[in-house]
Amino acid sequence: MTKVRFAPSPTGKLHVGNVRTALFNYLFARKAGGTFVLRIDDTDLERSTQEYEDGIRTDLTWLGMTWDETFKQSERFDRYNAAAEDLKAKGLLYACYETGEELDRKRRLQMANGRPPVYDRAALKLTDAEKAALEAEGRKPHWRFKLSGNPVSWTDLVRGDVTIETSSLSDPILIREDGSYLYTLPSVCDDIDAEITHIIRGEDHTTNSGAQIEIFEALGGKAPSFGHQALLVGADGGKLSKRLGSLSMQDLREEEGFEAMAVNSLLGRIGTSDPVEPFMALEDLLDGFSLDRLTRSPARFDPEELARLNAKILHETGYAVVQERLADMGADAGEAVWAAVRPNLERLRDAKDWAALVNGPVTPVIEGEDADFIAAAADALPAGELTEASWGEWTGALKEATGRKGKGLFMPLRHALTGQPRGPEMAVLLPLIGRDKVLARLKGEAA
Ligand code: GLU
Repeated sequence: MTKVRFAPSPTGKLHVGNVRTALFNYLFARKAGGTFVLRIDDTDLERSTQEYEDGIRTDLTWLGMTWDETFKQSERFDRYNAAAEDLKAKGLLYACYETGEELDRKRRLQMANGRPPVYDRAALKLTDAEKAALEAEGRKPHWRFKLSGNPVSWTDLVRGDVTIETSSLSDPILIREDGSYLYTLPSVCDDIDAEITHIIRGEDHTTNSGAQIEIFEALGGKAPSFGHQALLVGADGGKLSKRLGSLSMQDLREEEGFEAMAVNSLLGRIGTSDPVEPFMALEDLLDGFSLDRLTRSPARFDPEELARLNAKILHETGYAVVQERLADMGADAGEAVWAAVRPNLERLRDAKDWAALVNGPVTPVIEGEDADFIAAAADALPAGELTEASWGEWTGALKEATGRKGKGLFMPLRHALTGQPRGPEMAVLLPLIGRDKVLARLKGEAA
């Protein structure tokens, strides 16, 4: 039974990079008919907030990702403490007393001597008396996991065969000197207890995975399969991290007004061997989804591509899907108006301005030199109810009567009827505006 988890820390807003990881886990679970777990990695009690946690749930829900199980790491400290004791008893978790400055100095010295800045395990040699003396000085220990020094290999679902030489790594710190846990050990405990089958996360975790595989084994568990996707970069290939603040889901939704499916369509397909296309529903991304379609090179995130997808998605979106949101922004003018303005939208909020062309009041724009033409147009308006055929009939007759054609024929009419130089198709707008308002606007009245 496939079981995966998305494990964000509630220490900030979800951004495009996190969401891509969430999406891959979600799609992987749904494709396999498995379980998708939302785990909140809030062991850092200082920096984790309820607001960020709520934000994560809001964002995932907006994107359409539903989770089958959820829990918070802060509810499980007993379990992590027990695991830490177990590792200590096995001699695999050892107390270290160096300050940050002392560690820095060691690293600089190593590098100056052309050696890699790997922790020298000096603390392993401390006697009980030396430790007691350090503690008497007021020092508190941080705790490191003792790596085996052997290579750790796995077949990565994205990167293929991967080997981490643990001999070239520093023993990872699992517990800080204030007693708080880094994510490494809690994550392994949770993955064992929740019976996670696949860990899908960013490439920046690849080295951690080497250490974590040893911790899985030390705790008597079996490491799940791993897949590490390449990271996101900006459109220019540069680092995205600096811009992540403006690429939070909340901003994309609330400030930029993007559609959730535009975000899903882009993040689900960039960096894969499949083309980016507009998908109307999350389930549609399942078709063809597979981790081995991910490329090894970084995926480029281009906000302009997002904007293009957004427009394409809106052009296909049905009235029922957006009616509530239109109503909320005072732009619900009915299904026919939606169908008329939809092809002109880049963001949903633009619908408000376009819908206002139909409902009015519109201040007509009639240039002096067009006054006679517009008066003639009012007289020539086809009789009876206006339909989508009326525009063609009307402008055909006007062309014949006045000799005007092209822009000279259409523009004065568009200006008079909408007050704008561009907008939705006039043939569609005309019957929606309706005879009374059409005639009033042709007389120059705001209607
Ligand atoms: N909370 C960790 C992170 O966001 C989880 C990493 C993982 O998926 O194991 O980086």
